[in-house]
Amino acid sequence: MAQPTPNVPILDVNRDNQPYREEFIEALTSVVDSGRFLFGPDVGDLEREVAAYSQVENAVGCASGSDALLLALMSLGIGPGDEVIVPSFTFFASVSCITRLGATPVFVDIRPDTFNMDAEKIEELITPNTKAIIPVHLFGQCAEIDRICQIACSHDLVVIEDAAQAIGAAYHSRPAGSWGLIGCFSFYPTKNLGGMGDGGMLTSLDPKVADRLRLFAGHGMRPRYYHQVVGINSRLDTFQAAVLRVKLKHLPEAVESRQAIAGRYNRMLSDAGLVGDDAISLPYQDPNAFHVWNQYSLRIGSGRRDNLRAYLAEQNVGSEIYYPVPVHEQECYRDLKVASHALTETSRACKEILNLPIFPGLTVSEQERVVETVAGYFGSAAKSRVA
Ligand SMILES: *Cc1c(COP(=O)(O)O)cnc(C)c1O
Repeated sequence: MAQPTPNVPILDVNRDNQPYREEFIEALTSVVDSGRFLFGPDVGDLEREVAAYSQVENAVGCASGSDALLLALMSLGIGPGDEVIVPSFTFFASVSCITRLGATPVFVDIRPDTFNMDAEKIEELITPNTKAIIPVHLFGQCAEIDRICQIACSHDLVVIEDAAQAIGAAYHSRPAGSWGLIGCFSFYPTKNLGGMGDGGMLTSLDPKVADRLRLFAGHGMRPRYYHQVVGINSRLDTFQAAVLRVKLKHLPEAVESRQAIAGRYNRMLSDAGLVGDDAISLPYQDPNAFHVWNQYSLRIGSGRRDNLRAYLAEQNVGSEIYYPVPVHEQECYRDLKVASHALTETSRACKEILNLPIFPGLTVSEQERVVETVAGYFGSAAKSRVA
């Protein structure tokens, strides 16, 4: 009988949470006993801790990363007639915050190496209506945020960082979320700092900006039952904050594990002779970036990505495609007039990218199995070419 091949999951949230189970129970129990399910002390404590971790003065909890982005734009009064420059190779929420407010996304192409917004292509897209730039620090690696902030500054534009995948990342040693006017973080369970439900946070160096974000996140209400602006209800609840405080304490170890896993994949794939123009390109690391590896992303050339992915699935090896369809090609945006240059690299990335399993608890033997399976695919592909 054939040996059942063990499953290598793309992500195992339970495995990563299990070591801290007792700490979670203790933290959650004290929330239960306090009865302060909203606005409990853990929320303010987490805000201060995330602010310190990201080297900013101010942080404001909210209900999700998507809400963080929406609140950022709302607080700046962005609406119809305004343009916001954003990549199309990103998660939908980086863009829906713009269109939800009636503003217009202007898509900028990505760099083929980092998959991040190409800073050198921003200026040609700026018009008198441009109000903001939303760089996305994709997969845990910062976009060229120094250059992006310079361009924004010289055109009087605001920078809102989508750091949903990049808590703890840095560029020139300065943390993600501390470069722009506002930083947006997500605590979705698959993110590097993942909660047990939804959650998000906004950061800013400017206390006035942070105060306005808090106003918008609380129905624009100040004082109680007096509404200054039309805000939304977007709160980080105390249970999430309690869980996240436990995980934030252990985040530096988790980042180190992710970095070790990425380094090991790089070595294993190179040693297996799989890296080259024809087969696989390893993820590029910008030397200025402190990469926190929310994802490990390969580029698979020659139209073989989908076959490789199917082969991995057959062999019980998890993989994902972030992202198969660029945002500007989504069905809901079919009527959107895209005032963008050619998004050549965006389209190519959607066809070539493949994300391998990466999470702090992934074992060396699981990584070996992933690499052996990838090698198995290319080996059999080579044989069938010869035959
Ligand atoms: C996850 C994510 C978001 C949205 O965060 P949620 O907490 O899921 O709402 C926004 N942008 C990017 C790039 C993301 O990866």
